[in-house]
Amino acid sequence: MENPMIWLSSPHPSGNEQKYIDEAFNLRRLFAFGENINGFENDLENYLGQGVYVAAFNSGTSAIHMALILLGVTNGDEVICQSLTFAASANPILYLGAKPVFVGSEPQTWNMCPDALEAAIKDRIAKGKKPKAIIAVHLYGMPYKADEINTIAKIYGLPVIEDSAEALGSTYKGIKCGTLGDISILSFNGNKIITTASGGGLVSKDPKVKERAIFLASQAKDPAPHYQHSQVGYNYRISNINAGIGRGQIEVLQDYINLRRNNHIFYSELFSGERYIKLLTEPDTDFYSNYWLTTLTMNDSNKTSEALRLFLANMNIETRPVWKPLHLQPVFESCDYYGDNCAEDVFNTGLCMPSGSNLTDEEKQRITHAFTAWKNTV
Ligand SMILES: *Cc1c(COP(=O)(O)O)cnc(C)c1O
Repeated sequence: MENPMIWLSSPHPSGNEQKYIDEAFNLRRLFAFGENINGFENDLENYLGQGVYVAAFNSGTSAIHMALILLGVTNGDEVICQSLTFAASANPILYLGAKPVFVGSEPQTWNMCPDALEAAIKDRIAKGKKPKAIIAVHLYGMPYKADEINTIAKIYGLPVIEDSAEALGSTYKGIKCGTLGDISILSFNGNKIITTASGGGLVSKDPKVKERAIFLASQAKDPAPHYQHSQVGYNYRISNINAGIGRGQIEVLQDYINLRRNNHIFYSELFSGERYIKLLTEPDTDFYSNYWLTTLTMNDSNKTSEALRLFLANMNIETRPVWKPLHLQPVFESCDYYGDNCAEDVFNTGLCMPSGSNLTDEEKQRITHAFTAWKNTV
């Protein structure tokens, strides 16, 4: 019999979700407001600390779109964005008719390189257009160099949108990711550390930003008995059912962080004798990663990440290449890029390993055996 698939990162129900869903059904609160939404937002606000306010959304992508709207990004504007990330970080820039300007990565965290960021800002200003905002990403759960990025942003008076979709539970200098930007966003997609099946969050320290985000995300209804509209609205709120899943998930978030961090330890032991394999690891104690995914690069002309990926796929073990830098993606072909080859090198040699909080000891054994078998064939 064929071995069952070992997934990269699959949804992990805790068993606590059903009671919140049943409550919503019993009260027939099957819409985009209700107890679960308020409860989930409270849970997230308490978890993140720093006095933040959270508006729950139907996806991380819609939350990024809203963050750009709240910062006044419109047609013809430029927005700086980390190149090495998932396309959803930058697509909302295009929704608004604005243009992404991509910035490369530094090798310690794989995230936005502060030097390249400053070079980009200076050059865009010299060319006559000051960017409207910066989107920085904590890739695979690893915090970006927030002090350096925030300092540069402040010098040039640019707001930072913190894409914390992959980094709920990570911290930078003891402060939770998701509270480090002017506006931050979270994702609760099915493959993230906790899920609502589909969902997101918009985080701000200003209660008025939360209020306005909810207003615009709920069709921008002016106060009037008839439906009166003076602004463009969106249908971006989370549902009361999805938020119920989130309430059950956040109860186990700390356990899931520990489990994902244990996966990282498992891989660092498995690969400890392989000099050509380098795991993406916290550079120092300022950085605490939830290790949403354990990722690595392989620098050997025979033992390549693609050869390993194909070998493992054959044994029903899912791995995935690192995100392809967005400045190399056809849809963003016409956009400018500032930076060196770091992001491209990581893409060419990188691999994401199975990293779910539901990864079993038996599955880890299968991964160990498969890797040993591969190593001995190449
Ligand atoms: C998942 C993800 C998003 C988008 O979140 P969705 O909830 O899937 O819309 C944005 N940015 C990054 C870096 C992500 O990993």
